[in-house]
Amino acid sequence: RKAKAKMPSYKGLENFRLEDKMGDGAFSNVYRAVDLTSGKKVAIKVVRKYELNSSQRANILKEVQIIRGTSHPSIVKLYSFSESEEYYYLVMELMEGGELFHQIVKLTYFSENLARHVILQVARGIRYLHEERGVVHRDIKPENLLFERIPIIPSKNPIHRPYDEEKEDEGEFIPGVGGGGIGRVKIADFGLSKVVWNEETMTPCGTVGYTAPEIVKDERYSKSVDMWALGCVLYTLLCGFPPFYDESINVLTEKVARGYYTFLSPWWDDISHSAKDLISHLLCVDPAQRYTIDEFLNHPWCNAAPAPAPPAT
Ligand code: ADP
Ligand code: MG
Repeated sequence: RKAKAKMPSYKGLENFRLEDKMGDGAFSNVYRAVDLTSGKKVAIKVVRKYELNSSQRANILKEVQIIRGTSHPSIVKLYSFSESEEYYYLVMELMEGGELFHQIVKLTYFSENLARHVILQVARGIRYLHEERGVVHRDIKPENLLFERIPIIPSKNPIHRPYDEEKEDEGEFIPGVGGGGIGRVKIADFGLSKVVWNEETMTPCGTVGYTAPEIVKDERYSKSVDMWALGCVLYTLLCGFPPFYDESINVLTEKVARGYYTFLSPWWDDISHSAKDLISHLLCVDPAQRYTIDEFLNHPWCNAAPAPAPPAT
């Protein structure tokens, strides 16, 4: 880590010692901090309220309300919320291990076993949001999936399979990811999330009986945006690059609109048909055909016993 930068001090956060910056957003910084009362380590998202217009402010309050109403091992916890004249403060559970995005970059790609282990945790979080809370996240991506602690990925384990035939069997130790398991992965960032179903009645929000069919459909389909994103994350975990990419934003947009992706050789050659079948039911343009979270969790790939690790050499 770089030499410690001087931490800013915020009015209203006197009870915390900020240690370092963990993330940057358009309107926020996320700090690692210590709650001086309890000694507990936390993460604090400091939102620059003064840069927000009134509808953006309302969105932060909505984000807080949604995350406050959740309690699940795959969802980052919000401990407290407060504000000063200039800032909003979200004191959250500290996710020491950082973003799934960085782990993908570090490892190149994950074995099917490890990808399953990670994606099932995310999927259970999504099932909880969709079915118990009536919430769609709408921003599922590797940057918003966080590891509780630095995932430890030992050598001589099928978890690390960079596409490099010569190194394939070396099983060398991966710096920064040591031994002893991967830990929990949790969903963060409810900045774009939305409540679509009334929890008690499991009907669309708004006045039942007067809701137009396109709204009913829209709200039903809005859950499917999380399923598409889940498919993109799973694809990326298994091969190390995203399903849709182009340097030109116009071409990229067209590829997504058509659902044009391939299981590119050689990267996908050794990946199971079952994994490809599952992905094809998620990266499916028609939201009515796309798997729901229950269909996802019932797919054979999600329920396969992990393949045993190869014998240590
Ligand atoms: P934004 O809306 O700006 O994307 P996020 O809530 O996603 O805000 O936070 C930005 C980044 O800060 C995340 O991608 C992650 O790297 C880091 N971060 C957010 N929450 C936590 C947390 N609870 N623990 C550790 N790091 C976090
Ligand atoms: Mg984010």
